[in-house]
This record gives sequence, C-alpha cells and structure tokens, in this order.
Amino acid sequence: MSDTYELSCDCGHVSMTANGSPKLSLYCHCGSCRELYSADMLSGTGWANDHVELPEQSELVVYKINDKQMTRYGCPKCGMIMYGVHKPGIPIIPHAVFRKANGGKLPAALAPTLHLFYADRVIDVDDNLEKCDDGSVIGL
Ligand SMILES: [Zn+2]
Ligand SMILES: [Zn+2]
Repeated sequence: MSDTYELSCDCGHVSMTANGSPKLSLYCHCGSCRELYSADMLSGTGWANDHVELPEQSELVVYKINDKQMTRYGCPKCGMIMYGVHKPGIPIIPHAVFRKANGGKLPAALAPTLHLFYADRVIDVDDNLEKCDDGSVIGL
C-alpha cells in the first residue's frame, strides 16, 4: 500500500508531500524537542529522505538550535511549523501537519507507536503505548 500525503501550511504558501509509510511515529518528551517545537512534547512522524518532497529551504523560516543539531522549518507567511530535522538527519513532520490535511484527524496508518525520552517528560500520558526512558530503542 502506498499512501501519498499532500501537506500544506495554514495559508497555503508552503506545500510538501510524504509518500508511503514513515520510519516511525511517536511522542518525544526530550528537552530538545520541547524547546524546538515550543510544546510539552513532540507528536510526530520521522521519514526517510526519499519518501518526502520538501520545499526549498530558502523559501522557509529556519530556526536552529545549533548546539543540539536541530532545526525547524516553517512558513514565512503564516508561521506554521512544517517539519524539523534532528540529529539522525531524517525529517520529522508533526502529526498536526497531517491532521490539518486530513480533516482534523491523524490518518490511521500514522498512529504513534511509542513514547521516547519519557523519563524527561513534563506531562504524564495515560495511554497503552510503550514508554521508553530514553531514545536507545531507535539508536539515539
Ligand atoms: Zn503559510
Ligand atoms: Zn525529542
């Protein structure tokens, strides 16, 4: 099965595509993700580079946390965060971007499977997913 997700920001200025299945879909509670996305946890999907068609970086607003090798890319007009690139070098697309493209719902194929860096959390999550204290399960 090969799904294609056509994604765009709030104002429509930035669009991008993701194809097939993500490498992972998760919640990350690490301090870096919380800082990068200004959220209590990251809710997102990680994709192989050849499964996404991303906008030209020069067309985006870029926010970097240099000492953590993390970058976030957003629309220069509406400010919506479209994706981030973290240490392993794969694009991370927030679940919110997929929800927006899918009538407010996360496509079932993209349901998150685990929590990473749960030991660093600032909020507790009461669900049935695996809770990993760190990122070693995906090699971080
Ligand atoms: Zn926009
Ligand atoms: Zn993280």
